[in-house]
Amino acid sequence: MSTSVKPTSAESSPSPPSADLGHFGPYGGRYVPETLMAALEALAAGYDAARHDREFRAELAGILRQYVGRPTPLYLARRLSERLGGPRIYLKREDLCHTGAHKINNTAGQILLAQRLGKRRVIAETGAGQHGVATATVAALRGLRCEIYMGTEDMRRQALNVVRMRLLGATVTGVDSGSRTLKDAINEAMRDWVTNVDTTHYVLGSVLGADPYPRMVRDFQAVIGEEAHRQFLEAEGRLPDCLVACVGGGSNSIGLFHRFLGEAGVRMIGVEAGGLGIATGRHAARFAEKTVGILHGTRSYVLQDADGQIRVTHSVSAGLDYSGVGPEHAYLHDRGRIEYAAVTDTEALEGFRLLCETEGIIPALESAHAVAYLARIAPGFTRDQAIILNLSGRGDKDVEVAASALGLGAGGAA
Ligand SMILES: *Cc1c(COP(=O)(O)O)cnc(C)c1O
Repeated sequence: MSTSVKPTSAESSPSPPSADLGHFGPYGGRYVPETLMAALEALAAGYDAARHDREFRAELAGILRQYVGRPTPLYLARRLSERLGGPRIYLKREDLCHTGAHKINNTAGQILLAQRLGKRRVIAETGAGQHGVATATVAALRGLRCEIYMGTEDMRRQALNVVRMRLLGATVTGVDSGSRTLKDAINEAMRDWVTNVDTTHYVLGSVLGADPYPRMVRDFQAVIGEEAHRQFLEAEGRLPDCLVACVGGGSNSIGLFHRFLGEAGVRMIGVEAGGLGIATGRHAARFAEKTVGILHGTRSYVLQDADGQIRVTHSVSAGLDYSGVGPEHAYLHDRGRIEYAAVTDTEALEGFRLLCETEGIIPALESAHAVAYLARIAPGFTRDQAIILNLSGRGDKDVEVAASALGLGAGGAA
């Protein structure tokens, strides 16, 4: 296609139609072993039927309302707005969802779909344990067998979430290979899926992996932006000037952004984990390096070394600590529709403290990255402008990390 006929950002449909086999421009696709191709095709067909089915949609909407606690509030953060001295800041309160984060919007959708497709068992991989808990929760609600793969190093670091998943009736299987973390758990879950694909659905936790996962997970998370669009119109009678969200795999951010992609006046910023600083190489800021590769079934920006090997990433927040990013983000980045920025561990901890002190809300360290970047840009906005920040999760899980980083131990003087 010649550049002269390319539509400019935000004017036409921002994402290609789903009939395009899950391609977002040059990104996305299905890079999987032959044995999984049929499973992905069946899943895509099942999903396409379900999303047009009134009964499926009504049942999912009922669970979101009565069990997850939707709609979540769109909350005007007055003291935070005053402290930053610029625009009015609204928080979309995904931290108030059951289990404490947005992840359950997706696990509820996928597990309902799995049942519709006749599966009796679900599997998932988890790093910090948040996606594992959200999967085990809905599996318990619906009476499905559930097995969660987790690196043994992560199990040690996140012992409380391991107990949660077991209380919820899930089998937690430790993975003792490689670095004993998320990527090893993903490999093990893939192996399980290949073997048990007739009975088992693989619940993927973000807008990653082979088609149909990136568009399916996006659609399940898009409820965030649909609510925020309506709530903001009710509150202000117009559209917001800017949206800000953190980007791990990219599901909470695309969930907020999706409804607004066609609104050219709404600026959107995704915030990645800058870790110890971009120059150190120890970070998870995929858009700071822009190298394209294939990871876990999809083509996108992936952090790699000079030989093309996937690099080990670093972030203070486990949920942002992954070397790839969702393919739709890569596409929207290239089109200039979404801006991406990174904040360091240290800045994220400042954002964490800022929200605690101004609003009485302890955010997830992931969400604190978005808060930190918001604090940096707010002075550039005027008082009659407004920004929506996606508060993707609550920070109870992070208080120990924050306590040691900020010197707030029970015996300390700080
Ligand atoms: C998992 C997680 C994230 C990162 O994942 P996305 O798919 O980018 O949303 C962000 N915030 C919280 C609270 C999480 O649990």
